Amino acid sequence: MSRTASTSDSDASLSSSSSDEPPSSSTSDPSTPPAAAVAAPAARFPLSAGECRRRDWRWQLRNRIRTVEDLRARFPGIDAAGVAEAARKFPLAVTPYYASLIRTPDASDPIFRMAVPDARELLDPPFLSDDPLAEDADMPVPGLVHRYADRALLLVTTTCATYCRHCTRKRLAGAKESTISPARLAQAVAYLRSQPRVRDVIISGGDPLTMSSESLGRVLAAVRAVPTVEIIRIGTRAPVVLPQRITDELVGMLRRHHPLWMNTHFNHPRELTCEAAEACARLVDAGIPLGNQSVLLRGINDRPEVMEELVRGLVRMRVRPYYLFQCDLVRGVEHFRTPLARGIEIMKYLRGRVGGLAIPLFAVDAPHGGGKVPIMPDYVVSVSPTRTVLRNLEGMPVSYPEPYAPSGGCG
Ligand code: SF4
Repeated sequence: MSRTASTSDSDASLSSSSSDEPPSSSTSDPSTPPAAAVAAPAARFPLSAGECRRRDWRWQLRNRIRTVEDLRARFPGIDAAGVAEAARKFPLAVTPYYASLIRTPDASDPIFRMAVPDARELLDPPFLSDDPLAEDADMPVPGLVHRYADRALLLVTTTCATYCRHCTRKRLAGAKESTISPARLAQAVAYLRSQPRVRDVIISGGDPLTMSSESLGRVLAAVRAVPTVEIIRIGTRAPVVLPQRITDELVGMLRRHHPLWMNTHFNHPRELTCEAAEACARLVDAGIPLGNQSVLLRGINDRPEVMEELVRGLVRMRVRPYYLFQCDLVRGVEHFRTPLARGIEIMKYLRGRVGGLAIPLFAVDAPHGGGKVPIMPDYVVSVSPTRTVLRNLEGMPVSYPEPYAPSGGCG
């Protein structure tokens, strides 16, 4: 069984050996080296065949929960009718690893809610759409979204290890599991070559880390060969739902394509397991900076204390909380949406309690392709040529004098 070391555990617990591995050998032998010099647990103890299999990312993918029957076998007593209804519209997949993080198989459990279909996904108020960010309208060639002058988004697969119930790309993810063809990749790269202002390419999907290292390596090499592309970013949820994917072989391949950044997607402290911490450490040790993009989800992470535990845990794992997104107006996720005021309240709470490094930017991805809009608590009370009045964290007004610039001075 996988461990679920929450961030309320000590730092040491994140790097400790697995609790389901055999206990350590006796230390009564004076020749036993000090703890720090002892080899890594995996090297000391042969793993059982079952444990070896569970640590293999391909086994995890092959053995995903894909049907309502699989779910019932794993969690007898769930509301199978509601699950089936939602799964008919939006695909179901959960890795055995992510399923093992579920403690209570009902809507009170944050992992269950993020992974298991829910009849409320069929709610369909008129302001929702399949593509609220209008990505399809901003595709000059299939699979390449170009909205901002200096950035482009390349969708390389429609496969994910686990289909998140709150996904913004429900129209694509899992609808038909496939990866980018060589012809489409060539078309995308030709477009990038024609757009020298694009310096930053985000590889996304689906989840690019569900591809083989060889296939993903081909994509990275093709994009890296565009002389005007400076950085490549990969968007992935693998460290959260499939940490076994972060192998030495993968990391060795990624290293060849620096400067490479990665954004992952942790939403709840219960996702910060030992396995996830090890996966992130491998990536960071390979020189890949990690950012985290959370989505604000009703009943999951919309309490300030939960968000504080999440961001503190991420920073301990060397993952920088980057964005906290308001849930998009996408069909199938209405039951996850919170009022915008909730996000503002959480940001105010964080600002007073945790260091700036741990504070993400709260943003709305505006409907109809309006782009990202940062939402901040209002700390500016008034502005005049001589002074600006600010409100500090305790709510007190503070007057800040503007620079003194005598007339005629050259500054
Ligand atoms: S991993 Fe990303 S693309 Fe895939 S279902 Fe989750 S949020 Fe959507």
